[in-house]
Formats: sequence, structure tokens, C-alpha cells
Amino acid sequence: MFQADVRQPLYEGAQISRLESDILIMSFIIRWGLEEKGIDHLLRLLDCHMPTALLGSRYRFLEKFDTGPLMKVRFFCPECSDMLPTEDEAGDMECACGFKGNIKDVRNDENCFVHLPISEQVQQILGNRDLVRQMRKECGESDVVSGNIYKRLRARGVIGDNDVTLQWNIDGFRPFKSSKATMWPIQACINELPPLTRRANMLLCGLYYGKSKPDTDVILKPFVDELQTLHTVGMNCNIAGYGVHLVKVHTLICSVDSKVRAPLQGLMKFNSLFGCSFCLTRSTSVEHGGGFAQIYDWGLGPPRTSEQYILALRRLENYNATHNRHKSNVEGVKRGSVVVLLPVFHIIKSFVPDYRHAALEGVVVSFWKHWTNSDYEGELWYLSRAKRMALNSKLETIVPPAELTRPRGTLDDIALWKASEIKSFLLYYSLPCLKDLLPDRYWRHWLLLVYSMTVFLREKIIPEAFFEAQDAISRFVDDIKVLYPNCRSLYTFNTHLLLHFPKAVQNYGSLWSSSTFPFEHFNGVLTRLINGTQSVPMQVCRSFVRLRQVSQVSASVFSHESSSDVGKSLYYSMLSKYTSSQSHLYYNGLRLFGSPEMYTLSLVEKVSVERLLGRRVEGKAKSYRRMIIRGTVFHSSAYESLSVRDNSIAKMNNGVLVSIHRIILVKIFNSLEVFCVIVCELLQNVYEEICRNNVLDISASEILHTCRVSKRIVSFIPQNILSKCVSVPYGNDICVIPIVNVTERD
Ligand SMILES: [Zn+2]
Ligand SMILES: [Zn+2]
Repeated sequence: MFQADVRQPLYEGAQISRLESDILIMSFIIRWGLEEKGIDHLLRLLDCHMPTALLGSRYRFLEKFDTGPLMKVRFFCPECSDMLPTEDEAGDMECACGFKGNIKDVRNDENCFVHLPISEQVQQILGNRDLVRQMRKECGESDVVSGNIYKRLRARGVIGDNDVTLQWNIDGFRPFKSSKATMWPIQACINELPPLTRRANMLLCGLYYGKSKPDTDVILKPFVDELQTLHTVGMNCNIAGYGVHLVKVHTLICSVDSKVRAPLQGLMKFNSLFGCSFCLTRSTSVEHGGGFAQIYDWGLGPPRTSEQYILALRRLENYNATHNRHKSNVEGVKRGSVVVLLPVFHIIKSFVPDYRHAALEGVVVSFWKHWTNSDYEGELWYLSRAKRMALNSKLETIVPPAELTRPRGTLDDIALWKASEIKSFLLYYSLPCLKDLLPDRYWRHWLLLVYSMTVFLREKIIPEAFFEAQDAISRFVDDIKVLYPNCRSLYTFNTHLLLHFPKAVQNYGSLWSSSTFPFEHFNGVLTRLINGTQSVPMQVCRSFVRLRQVSQVSASVFSHESSSDVGKSLYYSMLSKYTSSQSHLYYNGLRLFGSPEMYTLSLVEKVSVERLLGRRVEGKAKSYRRMIIRGTVFHSSAYESLSVRDNSIAKMNNGVLVSIHRIILVKIFNSLEVFCVIVCELLQNVYEEICRNNVLDISASEILHTCRVSKRIVSFIPQNILSKCVSVPYGNDICVIPIVNVTERD
């Protein structure tokens, strides 16, 4: 382990300290995936460059970092495919099915599993003062801790003051295009940490790597076992700043794609009669495009409950025990799954209808496919080639802010877009861009989806907006029948899942709080940790453990004033692809960037600033390029080229919309007082009711504003910015749309 850094130079006259040197060497090892021999050579190479050898053996060096969870490679029984118990000293192991063998015989390069215990990882997080400081059991945003389920468990005393709760995910992906091998990480994160912090501090609880699909019941066993103990017994933890306490870990949410969710619940997949994970609605199979499609057009069914689950399971067992004919399921319940053993965890309610897969990759893409399918050429809503070209050229003119991913390619490839790109299209671009391309009624129907998703993704959802959004989303689903009578195939399972969003929001907060985006992001991190194709799972896990250790230590070392600049920049250039620099995100204040220029205020600007401050100011001011306020970056349009990213549009807390022209520090006349002011061009609200759904009394103006660029100058203090906005061309005007939240990153 590391000693607190009393800055000790590596040798006399060295640019870096001993600790910085250790961090940099380890970063190099992770970045380039060095194996034993490589590490040996690197240490010897460095040692012979120094006045005296300092690093010593590989063992001595690695000892400082390999202190995280104890990884254990586990193999599968060749007879029953169950996970074999840990081998004894001679390498022998015996399976419950009776199989006996030695590790040499069962070691399998094709399929293996690495288990990483949760306890050490939670301890590591709780040992970090900075992370402990950020933990919360209630908050102002609509996060998991403000959802009904968390509050109820707190009130019942299940979640104690020192306890933490998890959400977890499992899914497979192919890390190499050239190989069939899939990687199945079991990931978790701590709900008490704010969203961006928990995204940066994922737990890796297990990793399966193999050519065949794993049996999730088998690979989840060690995870479930450990969580049972951590819930009932708990563990003693040294919580930074609070001393040693008993900490219990409870499992609250599982956020996964539908194709993984059903098997995890022990339910039939969506393409069967009772295929919904959350309710007992019935689906129908209809002919579609030469094959069959499963249609969910009956609306919500009675909710699934744990009682119904157990009853159905019993009926299934009884039936199969007394009849010759084998029945596969009762009301979609197929078998008892290993996750029912997770304490606190509810086999139905603990799962969430992930909006990333259901709404973005599901509903949006499926509507687009219908709109553009030439089978529907005669329909009013058909988007002809000419209309599609018009739409694509509108999209091209949009200059999004830094927070949004710009779609690559045209809408014709939307099925290949990243989910975050589809999200930008849905929330910000689709409504203004589809105007006049979709017939009015259809466009107003689309508003219902955009509106409800905007509300369900807000940082904080107020009850009034929640109920409106709940009505809007169910109306959206209902009206598909009316507006697209020849398209039953729009009633996909994903469309049905939209109806389950409101409950998920009540239970666990905004849809960002439990989406699969952070897990997907972490899959990317794990993929980047792969170096070479040999013993991949072990190598990834080892690098992961070292990465955690090195980022923990480096956070305190490189935030130190006296830390080495050379070392710091080398560190970031080596590891930035695994970590997201988030130092500023929870900084509540204001920071100005770039070397300022002296600027002489125009008369209009001066008057506007003086009116704002109510004092006379000096005519010359320091003008900055950029600022960060409460974690959000803004640029001044006077300096920054806005052709790639437009970070200058803002909504003020009095509702006024502006484009920030200059960010300046002004001096009060004849005084030493200095104020930061943003001098802006006013975006004149046109108050055009661009789109309204009269039945529900929902208007697009609740989520976007039509504006005209004016040359009128207004000044504000930066603290009065309410939110950053996206500007989308709209005829001769622009649509200004506040960014829905800053808690979710792509
Ligand atoms: Zn066996
Ligand atoms: Zn359902």
C-alpha cells in the first residue's frame, strides 16, 4: 500500500516524486498491457537509467498495486457445465454431480470465468474520502435515492445509515470483430454516489469470456452468494473520515436489455404469448414482411407480482409432474431463476424497462423504418426520398453543443447509430426537423413521445409534469391504432414497454438513474483494456484492478499543488481513454478559462452592464473565451468558432433566452470591485405555438422555444444561467431547446 505522499523526489534533482514515478510506471503497464516479462524488462530498464537502482523486483513493485479484490479463475464441469468449486492445492476439484478432475484437464481456453469479490471493491470506495463525501441517501434530483422503493426501504430500516445499495447489469458483447468470442461482464454500481461519479467507479464483479453463450444462472452464482452474505451479515469497513462501521450491501435494481432480462427472470422471451416482464398482457403473432412479428396492442395487463410468479411456477411443476405432455411455461413463467435468491431484490419490480434499448433503439428506429418503407408509399405519413433528403439536409445544418453527440451519417442509417445519437435526434432535432414533412396530426402525435421522454429524463421531475407525461406516453401508444391503422407492426414489445416507464420513474427516479448507458460505457472501458488475444479475461480483470488502484492514488497525488506538471500530463495522456476527467463536474462555482484579452466595451454594452450592476463601470474589461459554471461549459460567440460546436446558447432563470457573446470581468468605476458578467445577444421569443396536442393540452412550448435572433444586447451574471440549450434551425427562426439533463453522459 501507499504512504501518504510526503513529496520525496525520485532522486536528487528528479522532476517527479517516488509516488509519481510508481503511478506513471503502472499507468504504462496498464496502457500497453505489459505481461510479466515486459514488466521485468521495463523495471530493469528504468533502474539502469537512475543514479542508483530503486525499483527492484517485479514482485516488490506490483505488491503496491495488486491490493484490490482477489481474482479467481473458475472453470466449468465438462459433465454438467456447472461451475467447478475452487481447486485444492494439488489442483484437484470435485463437482457436485460426481465429476472429479484436475485443473490441468478442465482448464479450457474457450470458456472461462473470473470472479472478483464485491466486498473489497466497496471497501475501496468507502475508503476514499472524496467518494464518501459525495454519497447521499436523499437528494434534490430524481435519482434512485429519491424513488419510492429506496425511500420505503429506508423507512423500514432495511437500508441502514452506513449501508450501500447496488444496481447491476450483465450482457454479452464481442470485443473483437474478427473473433466469435463474447465477453460477459457482471457490473454493478453504487446508487448512493451521484450518477457521474458512480459511472466513473463501476464495480466489476465477474467476467465470462468464451465462444459459447454462458448460462447466466451458473456465472451469477458467486455474485448472488456474496450478496446474500453482504446483506445479512455485512462487513466491517473503514469509512474514510468516519472510522470502522458495519456496512451492509443491498441489491436494488437490475438494468438490462430485454433479451437478457427475460431469461434472468426465468420468463419466456418477448416473442411468446405472455412475453412481458412486467405485466400479464397477451401478445399476438402476425405475418409481417415475409416473416412473423409479435404484436403487443392490448395495452397494459394486470401487473406481475411475486405471488403470481411463485403460483405459476408451482402450477407448471404440478402440471409437468402429472401429465405426459411437457408444458414450457405458465403465464410466461418458465423456471425459478438464481436471482430470486438475492435478498431485497424483487423478481419483477427490481428490473427496469431500459429506455436506451426500448425507446431509442426500439421505438424511434421502428417508426423511422415504417415512415420510410416503400410498402407504405400511399400513406399520408410516408417520407419519400425527397422528404428524406430535405430532413437530412436540415440535420446537417445543426451545430450541437459539446454535451450532444453529433449523428454520423444520415437518418437512413439510423439503425446503425449509437443510442446517444438517436437520443439527440428524438429529444432535440426530430420535432423541429419533421415539421411540414409529417402531416400535422402525425407530427402532433410524435410530440407526445418527445414530450414524455423529455419529462422522464429531466434532472428533477415535478409531480405535475410527471402526470402529464404519463398521460402523454399512454396516449402516444393508444393513438398508433388510430393514426397508423395498417401498421399493427408498430406495436412492438418495445412500444409496449413505454407504458411501463411511468412506474419505473416512480420506483427509481428519472430514466437516466437506471439506464444501461453507464454499463455500456464501461463495456467500452473493458474493451480498451484488452491487449492481445491470450488469456483475455484474466488480463482484463488484472488491468481493471490496477487501473482502480492507480486512479485512486493519482487523484490525490496529481491534485496536489506541488505535483509535477510533466508527470501529470504524461499520466493523463496514457490513461485518459479509460477514465473520464470529471474534476469540474461537481464544482459548484464559476471558473474562467483562457488568457483574457483587454476589451473596450461598446456604448451599448457598457450601458447594459451598468444597468445590470446598478453601478458605473470602467470602459475596459478583461474578456474570456470560456467559462464553466456548475459543471457546464459555455463559450463566448465573439471568440470561439461555432461551426462545429455551439456552446453559447443559454436559458436564464427568468426565462430569457440568449446567445453569450462575451464573458467579461468588469471593474467598478473608481473601486477595486470586480464582477463577472456575460454580455449576450437576446434571442427574441416568437411565442409561436409550433405544436400542440389539444386533447391532452400539451404544447411543444413546454419543451422548446421558437426564437428570432436579435441584435439586442442584454447582460447577466453567469450565476443566473438556468440551463444550456441546443439551437436548431427552424425556417427563418431557430428552435431553442434546453438540455434535458447534465447527469447523463454518452
Ligand atoms: Zn458437474
Ligand atoms: Zn407489460
